[in-house]
Amino acid sequence: MHGRMWRGVWLFVPCTLFMTSPATGQSPARWLAHDMQRPRPPVVSPGKLSLPVGPPSDAIVIFDGADLSKWSDAEGGPAKWRVRDGYMESVPDSGYIFSAGKFGDVQLHVEWATPLPASGHGQGRGNSGIFLMGLYEVQVLDSFENETYTDGQAGAIYGQHPPLVNACLPPGQWQSYDIVFRRPHFHDDGTVARPARITVLQNGILVQDNVTLWGPTTWLQHRAYERQADKGPISLQDHGNPVRYRNIWLRELPELAEPSGLAEQPATTVTLSPDQLRKFAGAYGTPTGDPIQVELKGDHLQVHMKTGQVMDLVPRSPTEFALRHTAGTIVFEAKGTGEVTGFSLHLGGEKYPIARLAAQP
Ligand code: MG
Repeated sequence: MHGRMWRGVWLFVPCTLFMTSPATGQSPARWLAHDMQRPRPPVVSPGKLSLPVGPPSDAIVIFDGADLSKWSDAEGGPAKWRVRDGYMESVPDSGYIFSAGKFGDVQLHVEWATPLPASGHGQGRGNSGIFLMGLYEVQVLDSFENETYTDGQAGAIYGQHPPLVNACLPPGQWQSYDIVFRRPHFHDDGTVARPARITVLQNGILVQDNVTLWGPTTWLQHRAYERQADKGPISLQDHGNPVRYRNIWLRELPELAEPSGLAEQPATTVTLSPDQLRKFAGAYGTPTGDPIQVELKGDHLQVHMKTGQVMDLVPRSPTEFALRHTAGTIVFEAKGTGEVTGFSLHLGGEKYPIARLAAQP
């Protein structure tokens, strides 16, 4: 039996090494939930932290250390966690607690500390969690010198994404999560239009980089998305360990706009002949002596800056042109004889005079 077992191990090890990218420690392969073979994120010690981090002026404070008036238990009754000295502490068997406010896209700041002295091991040591919309858990765990499956260590999106690095401080010390959450979107038929996405910094260190969630986070199995409301509560997990929280605030984020592509000036209704355009072509210069070249390129004018930018011009009148991709205009100036003497560049609320340089004799 032992011989067969060892053979199995040796067959498995090279396979695991092969699947792991040495550059990142992350594997592009799919992994079973809670696989202990999944590569360990490297340990990174945070720099000096300055906690607590106060809420910005537009933040909604959902726990300020005074009381649990903005929280309830699963049935909507009073939250049974303990509050003292400016923090709340999970009370074993009191259940999860839920924020009274409901939120969709948020930037969420949370400070937490796992019990000191540490007791238990693996998932039994300082386990709690922060659930976005009550469904998507950013794991809280004492992962300081405490091995467990990587999709369940601190900073993991539980059961899905291990953290990029292990940025845990020792038990008893306050540490922070800064979470950016984008809610899932659904089509009318209930299928997913856009899955949820999460970015997490732990103690100022990136541990989740805009990862896509494939459904609500769960233990032992994967769960598919089901159509849900646009907002849900922030929930904190009672996992039987007295984990502490303080200074919880969030900023509601506007919905992400769909990428709109490169903006362009509207098509022109003015058409100028090549002869009309050609009279503007030539060498110009700024008052400080930087050269600017105006060239006729096919059927339109181009401005070439000394610094390398090349801008197409769209005619708005016989003397006024818009920059094709930039919110600016160029207005050429001429003497009574029709000789072009320069132009003014209107950009960013400023007007820049540009003079035509005399042609070389
Ligand atoms: Mg947990």
